[in-house]
Amino acid sequence: MFKLADKYRAAQFGALGESEDRLKFIMDETSRCIKCYQCIENCPICYCVECSTRKPHLVTPGQVPPPFMFHLIRFSHISDSCVNCGQCEELCAMDIPNALFMHSLQVEMEKMFGFAPGVNMDLPILALVEEPAERKRLSDTGDDQIYNIF
Ligand code: SF4
Ligand code: SF4
Repeated sequence: MFKLADKYRAAQFGALGESEDRLKFIMDETSRCIKCYQCIENCPICYCVECSTRKPHLVTPGQVPPPFMFHLIRFSHISDSCVNCGQCEELCAMDIPNALFMHSLQVEMEKMFGFAPGVNMDLPILALVEEPAERKRLSDTGDDQIYNIF
């Protein structure tokens, strides 16, 4: 099963292309987004009370499809800790392969930092650069584990 999974993953990542081609592919696919928020509201990793995608200085309110920044915020906040549960893809109103995109980023992040989400119990890398209020919220739990604040 592991070998089969590796084989399919290699094929799916290969279809994304590399470098700028991959970025363009992701930008093209996400340009169908209708900003329904299913990918954010159902992600088990998202925990910010004030979601950055709802901040007007980052993502223009009322604009559909939203600017690519909407997706960049998801990628930058989740890519270190995505557990590839598939919810953001399964529930996407526009059938955008969100989980595939995020998982492809997560694999690169894991190569860089060695953090394996769902396995490592340390604080994820990007948690260290998140907003102070969210860091404080996590810290106030008396723990350093994100899953303890749900
Ligand atoms: S696949 Fe990753 S980004 Fe998508 S909902 Fe699951 S944990 Fe979140
Ligand atoms: S679930 Fe799909 S359509 Fe909805 S906000 Fe996320 S990417 Fe956009």
